[in-house]
Amino acid sequence: MIKLRGITKFYSSGFNKTYVLRNIDLDVREGEFLTIMGPSGAGKSTLLYIIGMLDDASEGEYYFNDQAIHSLSEKKRTQIHQQHIGFVFQSYHLIDELTVYENLETPLLYKKVKADERKSLVADALDRFHIVAKKNLFPSQLSGGQQQLVAVARAVIINPKLILADEPTGNLNSKQGEEIMELFRELNQEGTTIIQVTHSEKNASYSERVIQLLDGWMEKGEKGPGAGREAKVENGKRLRSS
Ligand code: ADP
Repeated sequence: MIKLRGITKFYSSGFNKTYVLRNIDLDVREGEFLTIMGPSGAGKSTLLYIIGMLDDASEGEYYFNDQAIHSLSEKKRTQIHQQHIGFVFQSYHLIDELTVYENLETPLLYKKVKADERKSLVADALDRFHIVAKKNLFPSQLSGGQQQLVAVARAVIINPKLILADEPTGNLNSKQGEEIMELFRELNQEGTTIIQVTHSEKNASYSERVIQLLDGWMEKGEKGPGAGREAKVENGKRLRSS
């Protein structure tokens, strides 16, 4: 489903280039549940944004279902994002001026879902996430945890082929966090591809494969959560710790 080849991202300031991602090769098959881990600043969010078509790589190739995303216009990329991808942002990115109900309805409007169906999908989502009582409130009237629930609900409401989640349980209590991970597991079993960024070993244990990023370099994990922890990457060379 996803094929990245030589993905590099840098920011230029004056004569200096700051590398955030370096030569990333990654294949994610349809139906996979993948975790990206690594220390803060390693480039995890940047990689997720590029996969989500919300940011551009500086170099390299990105194929999504065999379509060359790197050569598409921004408009076309946005369309693919809106049709197929549910993105859970670390800082929620809810629309402040819209109520919870309207925030959940927005991705359905982009996807041109008819009014009746929109109504029933939003009602289902409010129910599933136990936020019916909050539907007429604005994001600023919610706690961080409640905003995060709305953000997850908004990402899954279009029944996307691919869910990208940046620390999806960071502001939830452990019970809510577990519910979200269980929901991801269910959606994954139904065929949704999931890529999450997390620091939590527990969240990572829900996935089939873990990859580690360090200073923008990727070390591929072996099959199974936590496998990538055995390996370190330094100066682009691969070092196995004993
Ligand atoms: P992570 O998610 O692993 O914490 P990020 O992908 O958020 O890492 O960031 C990786 C690096 O890219 C950080 O060092 C950050 O400072 C840098 N970075 C992100 N955005 C910009 C930008 N617009 N200009 C310059 N550097 C940036």
